[in-house]
Amino acid sequence: MQVEKLLKPTWMIPVVPEGVVLKNHVLAVSEGRIAAIAPASEAGQFEARETVELPGEVLLPGLVNLHSHAAMNLLRGLGPDLCLQDWLQKKIWPAEGRCMGPEFVYEGSRLAGEEMVQSGVTCTNDHYFFPADAARGLTEAGMRCAVSAFLIGFPSAWAKTDDEYLKKAEEVIQQFRGNPRVHVTVAPHAPYTVGDESMRALAGLSERYGLPVHIHIHETAAEIRESMEKYGCRPIERLRRLGIVSSRLISVHSVHLNDEDIGTLARAGASVCHCPSSNLKLASGFAPVERIMKAGINLGIGTDGAASNDKLDMLAETRLAAMLAKATAGDPTAAPVHKMLYAATMGGAKALGWDKEIGSLEASKNADVFSVLLEEITSVPVLEPAAQLLYSAGRENITHVWIDGRLVVEKQQTIRSLSGMSRSRALSIAHKWQNTVEP
Ligand SMILES: [Zn+2]
Repeated sequence: MQVEKLLKPTWMIPVVPEGVVLKNHVLAVSEGRIAAIAPASEAGQFEARETVELPGEVLLPGLVNLHSHAAMNLLRGLGPDLCLQDWLQKKIWPAEGRCMGPEFVYEGSRLAGEEMVQSGVTCTNDHYFFPADAARGLTEAGMRCAVSAFLIGFPSAWAKTDDEYLKKAEEVIQQFRGNPRVHVTVAPHAPYTVGDESMRALAGLSERYGLPVHIHIHETAAEIRESMEKYGCRPIERLRRLGIVSSRLISVHSVHLNDEDIGTLARAGASVCHCPSSNLKLASGFAPVERIMKAGINLGIGTDGAASNDKLDMLAETRLAAMLAKATAGDPTAAPVHKMLYAATMGGAKALGWDKEIGSLEASKNADVFSVLLEEITSVPVLEPAAQLLYSAGRENITHVWIDGRLVVEKQQTIRSLSGMSRSRALSIAHKWQNTVEP
């Protein structure tokens, strides 16, 4: 069988089937897609133009960032010690007012795309003004993305009135229809910035075009209090009545959920996007991740924007999500490793309706793949590759990223330690003890 590339890692975590770690397998790539996965002993069947040896590395499907505001990379560091409303009203919205335009969004997204691909993120679900310019920046970085048919209930450089936002939302949907690299979500900003009539119109757009709805929901306790005062019900209940809550809903944040809210999301088949760093930095609270997962709700992970995180590092985000879920549930068996790796890849792909193409290493899917060096001083010995990928390795251990089978990142090691401990000496110590620690 003739193929373009043959990747030969020590381990492979395909994510589907869940919980599997393959050792000594190869992944063959042809025409941008995964042609096959086979044991290394059968690699002779492939005639590859290029073979990439990846000793000591683990291969995974590209991470799917389920919630970003890519252009906000240019607002990184702004307003570090404020609550959400002060942060938005005193810092972010005024800064956006000064900068907003196609050039700001393109250049910010280009920068964010670069940061994300270097972090193993091959697809992001973006939520921002000037979506075509965001798409341009992200795809130039080599990424796949969903951009937003966006609406926020106040005038901006993008649109002055709700009607103009809606008109542009439909134009964006048309512009990217059938594009294999760029999808579109219908994206009301939040329940507290979008009125009933526009919310209904956006629900209609989502239904007509079969597109996900991407919206911040139940991020803070104040949001829920205000909704009770203004509408006499919690935001999720209001959105349900307006037609927003369906299997296409991506409910971002979902920090403050009672049993009824969880029941509503679960019955609808909606997805939740968990953004733990942003929720911690803005002290929004702790999302009930274990209860969300137990209710059978599809979970994805998002970084949010670089102004509330402040890095687009999905491996770190997933590690934090797992640890927080354990602590908040008071149960170390909550948020198991493979479930969290699933959330960071397939969970996001499913929420975007993109799971036939991306999210796992399976034959015929797009070859969106990244490789992480586990046999490194900071993560040896390798006893449990999946757990160590999540808990010991970081984006600094990523060596290669391919999107559609095309190499977009290749890292050269530059660390030079003067203490006399070389990588090969570290590995020889680790290998010496590995079989004694776990025979
Ligand atoms: Zn956000």
